Amino acid sequence: MSVVAEAQRRRTFAIISHPDAGKTTLTEKFLLYSGALAEAGAVKARSGRRSATSDWMEMEQKRGISISSTALSFEYRGFQLNLLDTPGHRDFSEDTYRVLSAVDAVVMVLDSAKGIEPQTLKLFEVCRSRNLPVITFLNKYDRPGREPLELLDEIEEQIGLRPTPATWPVGISGDFRGVIDRRTGEFTRFTRTVRGSAIAPEELVDPDTAAAEEGSAWEHALDESGLLDAIEADVDLESFRAGESTPVFVGSALTNFGVRHVLDAIVDLAPAAEARVDAKDNRRELDADCSAFVFKVQANMDRSHRDRIAFVRICSGRFERGMVLTCDRTEKPFATKYASTVFGAERTTIEEAYPGDVVGLVNAQGLNIGDSLYESTPVSFPPIPRFSPEVFASARPLDTGKVKQFRKGLAQLDEEGVVQVLRDPDMGDSAPILAAVGQLQFDVFADRLDAEFNAPIEILSAPYEAIRLTDAESAKRLREIGGIRIMERGDGHLVALFESRYRLQRIEGDEPDLTLDHIIAG
Ligand code: GDP
Repeated sequence: MSVVAEAQRRRTFAIISHPDAGKTTLTEKFLLYSGALAEAGAVKARSGRRSATSDWMEMEQKRGISISSTALSFEYRGFQLNLLDTPGHRDFSEDTYRVLSAVDAVVMVLDSAKGIEPQTLKLFEVCRSRNLPVITFLNKYDRPGREPLELLDEIEEQIGLRPTPATWPVGISGDFRGVIDRRTGEFTRFTRTVRGSAIAPEELVDPDTAAAEEGSAWEHALDESGLLDAIEADVDLESFRAGESTPVFVGSALTNFGVRHVLDAIVDLAPAAEARVDAKDNRRELDADCSAFVFKVQANMDRSHRDRIAFVRICSGRFERGMVLTCDRTEKPFATKYASTVFGAERTTIEEAYPGDVVGLVNAQGLNIGDSLYESTPVSFPPIPRFSPEVFASARPLDTGKVKQFRKGLAQLDEEGVVQVLRDPDMGDSAPILAAVGQLQFDVFADRLDAEFNAPIEILSAPYEAIRLTDAESAKRLREIGGIRIMERGDGHLVALFESRYRLQRIEGDEPDLTLDHIIAG
């Protein structure tokens, strides 16, 4: 099959949701429906069942959360679906945002009893600002929940995405009978299975039979669907692909209701891997020579041998294990002798890959997040947006005899993007400030310094509220003003840290000539 044909059968996506909305359950069910798992329940270990969780870090288990992203591939209807996992914790993390730069669509899972929960709003807004196509799944409809029409309003108001229901529930939440496919008018009736462990028996029922058998539940569903017709809330491929409207599906991952409709939508509606635009706005055609970019770096995943894996998304050409790729930043060759797909602790050697696929390159010393790789024709893909840090802390080694290990850890975890390490230009590594999007990043940082570098640290809060990019000239002036600290980022850029947001606003107003740039978000 040609590279273009291979790309056309790829669907690369992520599931985003608030913790507990059902992301893991839906992932399991996707695997079940695709035939990749014989029995659901193998993704997240629950009460002694087989575990294939990402257990890269002890902390994950301690907290019961998944901090590292994994990529999962499975076949469905002759298509290859690449599901990139996003960390499912309550805190924001840059990791999640970076994953979004490597996918072509997302499935947004909402708990239909809760709707959009504040902590995850930001994540949804990022999808919106990047015009990523979003498929919405209103989950847990087997339980009493909120009115679906109300949930649609919430999606529109809070995220600015126009909801276009593809299916509509028959029966109220708690007594869920099935869904109408608004595109065909057909009724899909669901039957419960034992704890949802097997594929739910689905019965395709024609509208007349549905009316006769489901009575008022059917009529009510038809009425509501009619209302939606009237406001032209029909699935629209063009605005979905532009990230303006979102096809909505109703179901229950736990009982498998509606799962197949979502999988079908990923195949039928979500875009295939397409030619990517590079940093100079040129298209890198799918059938050009192989190219990829690094969206995630993770070190020390395997305790038995120290290693560093760079996760790349293939953008063009055919990737073959063993090929030599060049890194655009260093112009150094990288031999891809060890290439694997990584799911949890399991690694499978990958021999070839196509646009849309994710490959974990082992022994990737020298590759950083945002680097592009190419086979022969040079290319640089646009930089992955960095998020403006919102929380700040200082770090101090607890054991003064471990300064060397501390420095090594700082450098590596900064490169990996676990946190941003800011250094005082005069003091170097001795009093770094850590900057992050969410507090949890500090905990991960401290945990890994201790576990992997044997350099336990103390994290102390730092009194800063805002950060701006600046230059040497403005830094001179800012140093004269109190309450501002000038630091240097890993990439050499100068940043100014402000103890008060109010103060920053005043300075911006009073001295408009100073360079105080926002760190791009979104
Ligand atoms: P995640 O944190 O988003 O990955 O959520 P999980 O998939 O782990 O689900 C959180 C909890 O909600 C678990 O106890 C699931 O069994 C439950 N759950 C998931 N989907 C459904 C559903 O459709 N209906 C009901 N009633 N519970 C569900």
